[in-house]
Amino acid sequence: MQTTLHSPVTFDGVGLHSGAPVRVVLRPAGAESGIVFRRVDLPGQPILPARWDHVVVSPLNTRLVTAAGVTVSTIEHLMAALSGCGVHNAVVDIDGPEVPILDGSAAAFVRGIMHVGLATVSAPLRAIEILRDVTVTDGVSTASLTPATTLQIDFQIDFEEPAIGRQQKSLNMANGAFVRQLCDSRTFCRASDVDVMRANGLALGGTLNNAVVFDGHQVLTPGGLRHPDEAVRHKMLDALGDLYTAGAPILGRYTGIRAGHAITNRLLRQLFDQPENWRWVACDAAIAARLPGVGVSLADLPAVA
Ligand SMILES: [Zn+2]
Repeated sequence: MQTTLHSPVTFDGVGLHSGAPVRVVLRPAGAESGIVFRRVDLPGQPILPARWDHVVVSPLNTRLVTAAGVTVSTIEHLMAALSGCGVHNAVVDIDGPEVPILDGSAAAFVRGIMHVGLATVSAPLRAIEILRDVTVTDGVSTASLTPATTLQIDFQIDFEEPAIGRQQKSLNMANGAFVRQLCDSRTFCRASDVDVMRANGLALGGTLNNAVVFDGHQVLTPGGLRHPDEAVRHKMLDALGDLYTAGAPILGRYTGIRAGHAITNRLLRQLFDQPENWRWVACDAAIAARLPGVGVSLADLPAVA
């Protein structure tokens, strides 16, 4: 069956790029609602479905936009938490244009969601089964989806910065792998990126407490890394969140090579462009047991959260 939140849960913080204070309240929603954002600070409280066809391409984050130009930015870590905890329906009330960055990971969202818990709603759950290989390439970046019986995420990154370097990781997202292995990995950047972003009015809310900053061989963030390969784990977290804009759980293998938000969105657009690429499948007990978020508890959450 589909799920929603058992009760509302609130998160307060600042936007990574805007630096502005913002409050998010996740609220229960009915069957077939999906994940929808609602700008409660604006007249008429515009609704923004968290769906691939409402995403505007942006290299640094994932942003939703309405036909009237209303936006919500940096949805990806919250979307990853909703996907990884198995939340299928929710209204996300937000009183500003950017989701709070919190500690730069999805751990606090996961803790809040798991604290209030989930409720089932009386509608069967469907998943998106990948039927054919779909690939998007852009320069040195590639993203692809291929048929598989669970959601598998494979990721490779390759940075000149020696402290990041080449990292590769593969995870089957069944059995709470997201909560145990990915959700506490923080967003990251290079020290050289910070000045460029600030000059462009971005990362104004960024601090060493909500992003891992790499400089040459060094990690500038106090306390260092949460995982030796925290950077690639965060890219997998981003991919899980971006893939959830498909509108339902995906059964397929995602491979990202130096991929980012924009190419993953192009991948979803290409997937849904051809009806032969995918089909809806009803989630029987066997499929449901293989979805992210099944069987996890607060005890699985890394102690850092
Ligand atoms: Zn991210």
